[in-house]
Amino acid sequence: MAERPSDEWYMQQALLHAQKAADEGEVPIGAIIVDESGTIVGTGYNQVEKRGTQTAHAEMLALQDAAEKKGWRLENCLLYVTLEPCLMCNGAVRLSRLRGVVFGTRSNLFGCHLDNDFFVPLYKKSMSFVKEGVCEQQCKDILREFFKSRRKHGEHYERTKKRI
Ligand SMILES: [Zn+2]
Repeated sequence: MAERPSDEWYMQQALLHAQKAADEGEVPIGAIIVDESGTIVGTGYNQVEKRGTQTAHAEMLALQDAAEKKGWRLENCLLYVTLEPCLMCNGAVRLSRLRGVVFGTRSNLFGCHLDNDFFVPLYKKSMSFVKEGVCEQQCKDILREFFKSRRKHGEHYERTKKRI
């Protein structure tokens, strides 16, 4: 069997999805779900504006995509996401029984610290690890560039505060 790609390689795939969000004028956050064989089984990027719902975060869409293929129990899967998941997405991650989460950069305003322990034991048991800081600079830069270019075009970008 071919060697499984590195965390960095998977994060690059998540970044490609983040770029799709940026191209569509959405805050650039991308996510993928990888199964036990190393196959990407779900992808998503932030579509809050396009879909007009606050639930259309990259992670939620990637989880739904994976669930359509594999069912909702994603026990042996990993989530790779460019920005630290928020409380909603972390809840969905726990409910999906993911094996772990790898994220690029911390979200100071909405990041749900994944190592905290207010989740019930069942959920805690289901998640074996969290890794942060994979391709961190790129994950930060894509967000910074997005907001910088928005401001340059005179747009008053309130959304910055909501998601990052
Ligand atoms: Zn979220």
